[in-house]
Amino acid sequence: MKVIKTICGMCGGDYCGIDVSVEDDRIVDIKGSKEHQLNQGRTCPQARAVLELEYDPNRLSYPMKRAGDAWQRISWDEALDTIADKLSQIKERYGAQALAVYEGESLEQFIRDGWARRFMNLYGTPNWAQNDHMCYLPAVIAEHLTYGREEIDGFEPEHARCIFLWGANPVTSHITTHWRYVTQARKRGAKLIVVDPRFSRSAQKADIYAPIRPGSDVALALGLINFIITEKLYDADFVERWVMSLDN
Ligand code: SF4
Repeated sequence: MKVIKTICGMCGGDYCGIDVSVEDDRIVDIKGSKEHQLNQGRTCPQARAVLELEYDPNRLSYPMKRAGDAWQRISWDEALDTIADKLSQIKERYGAQALAVYEGESLEQFIRDGWARRFMNLYGTPNWAQNDHMCYLPAVIAEHLTYGREEIDGFEPEHARCIFLWGANPVTSHITTHWRYVTQARKRGAKLIVVDPRFSRSAQKADIYAPIRPGSDVALALGLINFIITEKLYDADFVERWVMSLDN
């Protein structure tokens, strides 16, 4: 048996280090790499489910075509010819831009992005969308508007004295990284505040839990800002040195 050190790509978010045990060309175990700086030996259930995903007897590994109410197995050649014919018909009848490509999350995110865009260049359509456009990219835009860039140098949430989770549930979605930062900070005495309509697993651990009504986030945020400014609870020196508004 050999152990291969690699990176988990199951969520496209954290890229945790994993040790994959392989015996006779078959994966037999997956564990978090203890020496990996990010996850330090942890994995979430998704990484451990790779075995089921890879070796599930019901996993679809060939093309199927609808035949009435049922599906029938076809060859790869037939599948490729059928798809190529349909794509040619669409282009001929309506023009290349009648085609839109929408991609979901994939195990091979970076390779996949390259393939999809190359295919679209060749076909001639710019109409491309993926789940990132509703998930990751709005967060990046918000980070740029708030901090001026995507990441903050010296970002050390494990040294925070108060952590605010707003609509975030890292116990479930980022247990290997973000939740580890929260637990490390709490061991040092940090307070945890969770704002979420759902009594999530993270909310269950909070010192203060604010179960707001869905859609009232902006009212709560504006109320907090108003209170902080009115009561002069902010760090005036920090604001003077580091904070800019969109007006200046
Ligand atoms: S959080 Fe889970 S799925 Fe994502 S990279 Fe880490 S182990 Fe893999």
